[in-house]
Amino acid sequence: ADRPYIVGNWKMNGTRAMLSEARAIDRAAQRYMKAEVAVAPPYTLIHAVHREAEQIGVGAQDCHPGAEGAHTGDISATMLADAGAKFVILGHSERRGAHGESNDLINAKIESALDAGLRIILCCGESLELRDSGKAEEFVLGQLRASLPKIEDAAERVTVAYEPIWAIGTGRTATLEDIASMHAAIRKLLDETYGPEQSAEVRILYGGSVNPDNARDILSTPEVGGALVGGASLSAESFLGIVVAAS
Ligand code: 13P
Repeated sequence: ADRPYIVGNWKMNGTRAMLSEARAIDRAAQRYMKAEVAVAPPYTLIHAVHREAEQIGVGAQDCHPGAEGAHTGDISATMLADAGAKFVILGHSERRGAHGESNDLINAKIESALDAGLRIILCCGESLELRDSGKAEEFVLGQLRASLPKIEDAAERVTVAYEPIWAIGTGRTATLEDIASMHAAIRKLLDETYGPEQSAEVRILYGGSVNPDNARDILSTPEVGGALVGGASLSAESFLGIVVAAS
């Protein structure tokens, strides 16, 4: 896929006051059609952002693996789709870490998301300890081997996001060499899993302290198909700086 995919992960940020930012992002995205632009607001804003959005995609940051039932406080993939979400981010390191999410749980969520008609952004990434011990690639490929869904239409429904944990919210990005070599290894696994034709359509996003200043270099690194952006997606100005860098 040639079109870069720029996704804002708002994490636990945003009240209705953020809707004006969403509107600004949407209007600008209509002028930078070379990039596909999306945001994943908190649950409480999904429907409102969906209503504002003419151009950008709207998604969620997580879902429950079940379709419905007695799960106080949880949200199902069906509900997300009903609210206007088109995709869901799954396996983010902040959920694997703070909520102890296992590959098995993530797989159950992936299945329910796909059943509900959502696209998925499957996150992977190693800790600093793993990076320093030279085991980053082995670990990341292990995460993906455990969770890449065995489906026929991966090209339309699967995006991978490589987010080294030590680069998230730290201002410290991976070097372009580190990004290129990890993305190449992920591409090889996608080729093996889906065959080269499907694989070629599955974008591999980089995430971790992407900002308007470093976006151009990161986005022109081989096998980087876009960015998953946290902090810099919270203002239209900085997020659009990244969108422009991708255009
Ligand atoms: P930052 O861009 O704030 O480092 O967050 C990255 C991230 O975790 C996106 O999912």
